[in-house]
Amino acid sequence: MPEEMTEEEKQAKKYICNKCGRSCEIEISTAGDKSFFGLLETVVRGEYGSPVLSDGTAYKFTICEQCLQEFFNSCVISPEESNYDLLTGEVYGR
Ligand SMILES: [Zn+2]
Repeated sequence: MPEEMTEEEKQAKKYICNKCGRSCEIEISTAGDKSFFGLLETVVRGEYGSPVLSDGTAYKFTICEQCLQEFFNSCVISPEESNYDLLTGEVYGR
């Protein structure tokens, strides 16, 4: 499990979506505040014996929210969706 990045670390980087090439930075307030959304520098590893991703190979990538939504929409089995408390991270409503 990758460690969570601090807000400062996120702000210092410019995350570009590997799929569409757009920035993951989105304006979140009328004051011009911005933040990054999506899968940011996520690492997937081909585990031992992996026939597709190749064992011993790691892939680091960034996917913006728009591309994630397109992926979710294309799934035969939809991802499980729930709500969580923005302050505590506690998941509820499953
Ligand atoms: Zn994208």
